[in-house]
Amino acid sequence: MKRRKFLQNASLSSLGVVASASVIGCKNSTKNKGAYTSGNLAIKPIVIATWETPNATAKAWEVLQNGGTALDAVEQGCMIEEADVKNFSVGKGGLPDRDGNVTLDACIMDKDGNYGAVMYVQNITHVISLARKVMEKTPHVILTGKGAEKFGYEQGFKKENLLTESSKKAWKKWKETSQYKPIINIENHDTIGMLAIDTKGDISGACTTSGLAYKMAGRVGDSPIIGSGLFIDNEIGGATATGMGEEVLKTVGSFLIVELMRQGKTPQEACEEAVRRIVKKSGDRFKDFQVGFIAINKQGETGAYCIHEWFSYTVYKQGENKNYKSSFYNKA
Ligand code: ASP
Repeated sequence: MKRRKFLQNASLSSLGVVASASVIGCKNSTKNKGAYTSGNLAIKPIVIATWETPNATAKAWEVLQNGGTALDAVEQGCMIEEADVKNFSVGKGGLPDRDGNVTLDACIMDKDGNYGAVMYVQNITHVISLARKVMEKTPHVILTGKGAEKFGYEQGFKKENLLTESSKKAWKKWKETSQYKPIINIENHDTIGMLAIDTKGDISGACTTSGLAYKMAGRVGDSPIIGSGLFIDNEIGGATATGMGEEVLKTVGSFLIVELMRQGKTPQEACEEAVRRIVKKSGDRFKDFQVGFIAINKQGETGAYCIHEWFSYTVYKQGENKNYKSSFYNKA
């Protein structure tokens, strides 16, 4: 399992959280046992994101430390991965569909339950910001394809070629066999889903992806769909997903997790239940696909669970930016 190293300066300020600039090496850091917190103590601010995405969580943390909202934090955190051409599943550099087109999906949700999403967008890197514009500047919640792109240019977004040389090379290689077989864990990177609680205790979330590599043209997964790839209820908590979107959609996974937390389950228990439902409904098929969830509740307790080993998630809290290996269902 190939992992990226990272160096992160955590500059922590006035809020009385652990001070000083720390350098955190994430290599092998998935050995950490988990990111559970005590239910009695509300942990804030806090950021949690899917996969090994320390630069993204660090950016979000910086926003929160400066008194920014959870909404600003998740947007700016996700933008880091969208701009990273080495992440083959998000933004610029994302792997294309079968025809060689990179198409992006994203959604964002705020503390008041507002939601904005874009789907099947080409030529714009920061689709998470575009989703936020849909939420804040239009009477709609979803824009797709050409309409979303046109709206983006009207809002000042830059037209860019999202297909990098290395993604193009990978796509050409794939075309030699053209076998559609979703990869279970892509170098510990994939869709980024991010949840944050700000210093006021408000929760927001965001999710951005290029979707499954070599998907059919027109395919949209769970990531931009409210309740599936992301759900936030500021009274309860939030959840977000990564992996095979078709399966997450069928169980409305993120909404399910938030509702389970409302009924009293911890984020960890709720994530486990959501994964178990997917597995149960899929018969034997679950062996061939990955789904991972992360969740947070109002107290800042976190949870994560996935079908297969090697899903990981990154938590920035109390001045520490750490990557954790998620517990998993399939021990076979
Ligand atoms: N959930 C994303 C989708 O189905 C892809 C992924 O997370 O791998 O589009």
